[in-house]
Amino acid sequence: MTAGIPEQLSNFYDNAFHQAGSEVGKGVADGSSVRHLEVTTPHTGKVISRVPVSTAADVDSAVRAAAAAFSSWSTRTYKDRAQYIIRFHQALQAHEDELAELVVLEHGKTKEEALGSVRKGIETVEYAIGLPQIAAGRVAEVSRGVTCQERRDAVGVVVSIVPFNFPIMVPMWTLPISVGCGNTVVLKPSEKVPLTLNRVASIIADIFPPGVINLVHGDKDTAQHLIEHPTVRAVTFVGTTAVARLVSQRCRALDKRCLALGGAKNHLVAVPDCDLEMTAQDVVNSFSGCAGQRCMAASVLLLVGEQSQLLDLIREKTQALQPGRDSRQVGPVIDNASRDRIIGYIDEAERSGAQILVDGRSWASRQGSWVGPTVIVHRNRSDRALHDEVFGPVLSVYVCQSASEAIEIENANPYGNAACIYTSSGAVAEWFTKRFSAGMLGVNIGVPVPREPFSFGGINASSFGDMDITGDGGVEFFTLRKKVTTKWTVPTEKSWLH
Ligand code: NAD
Repeated sequence: MTAGIPEQLSNFYDNAFHQAGSEVGKGVADGSSVRHLEVTTPHTGKVISRVPVSTAADVDSAVRAAAAAFSSWSTRTYKDRAQYIIRFHQALQAHEDELAELVVLEHGKTKEEALGSVRKGIETVEYAIGLPQIAAGRVAEVSRGVTCQERRDAVGVVVSIVPFNFPIMVPMWTLPISVGCGNTVVLKPSEKVPLTLNRVASIIADIFPPGVINLVHGDKDTAQHLIEHPTVRAVTFVGTTAVARLVSQRCRALDKRCLALGGAKNHLVAVPDCDLEMTAQDVVNSFSGCAGQRCMAASVLLLVGEQSQLLDLIREKTQALQPGRDSRQVGPVIDNASRDRIIGYIDEAERSGAQILVDGRSWASRQGSWVGPTVIVHRNRSDRALHDEVFGPVLSVYVCQSASEAIEIENANPYGNAACIYTSSGAVAEWFTKRFSAGMLGVNIGVPVPREPFSFGGINASSFGDMDITGDGGVEFFTLRKKVTTKWTVPTEKSWLH
């Protein structure tokens, strides 16, 4: 069967997937679905499973199950719900290796990257254990005998639609905080990587009361049924910008709360006083890690002035990378369509006169969906690879004449997820962080992911909606602020109280 995965293991995953499909949540699609989609492993391109596409009726039954569970789940105390989250956390920890293997299998990450992503997901669950303290509302005496209390109550049935690039970590951006705050949830994994989340659902099926967490499968049709369902009160979406914008606009029209995170084009800037070795290693890790399929991945490196030594180091480190699933190797991209799209960008840049300093196109001859780490030194500022989200292990390098030109290029891109400055000067770092247009900024760190209690989220075309995800932004999104104003007047017959 799958390269590197024993046949019986591969079968096991297949069985677990289908069993869980009928086990978890009332609305989970099972054999009654009319359509199935094939799930392939990008390591070899072979089909490893089939995902049933939940119909409108499946979606309706999942949402009804969530709605039925809502009144009792939302009226429990935060402390009570935290007990479930603690067991959820323990269950994920106990299965972290198995879940990481699934991520390797269906997504193509290396084992180290997969395990890292599972652990990052578990960190959000850990944060949600603290919700009784974090989400405790304020109380204040606002005038004599009058107090105002702010409560954070659940929103209702929430839907989470997630992308392929982090099969467990991204769903965990919403799942623990939303249910910890008292909401009930319907999740839809990416149809390209449904196995990991399906396994999570089967692992936690006995932990939560029925209907609190529900899973449906499918593609955009299933997602649209979820968004349109009148009982759904809030939608979180993570995916490409074009779809995020559509989802956000549709939710606005339907008066639903929505947080839709979109794509990215992240710029790293290196100035002449940067630490060469550290910068080169960090840049290579950032653009090639997870085969460049991270919304926080480096995509463009702007050099302020010619920096041939830094470029030489980046070339050497990139050339040393090998294909594979072990640590310090680089895995495949998600599918052949992605591979061909990425190679198309490299071909086009070459035709426009760019230098292909490291060429990963030769990896495409391997069985599966491979494209090797590639470094393009652009001469033409209008090359598409410098502007579009390539979402593969490709670094576009451009030499700027000044720091202001670097800022001008970064600011001109419509996305706003991440940007980073490499420098050994605090003043230079501050100059750049004040001027970057992105929402998550790094100083000497090429994947500047904010950790809880900070929230995750870009700005501009990388995020539609009013809040961030995870951390305190997640709590804000998944709760309604209710204000209770109380007045106690001392009755005259209790004059002895004075
Ligand atoms: P995608 O937009 O193709 O799909 C994402 C999800 O939306 C999937 O579950 C898919 O089934 C569903 N979907 C597809 N078309 C839809 C439609 N018209 N209506 C409703 N739902 C629809 O994205 P992808 O290729 O799976 O993921 C990669 C993208 O996600 C990249 O652009 C990456 O930058 C982005 N991403 C962003 C963040 C962030 O925090 N901003 C995080 C992770 C990934």
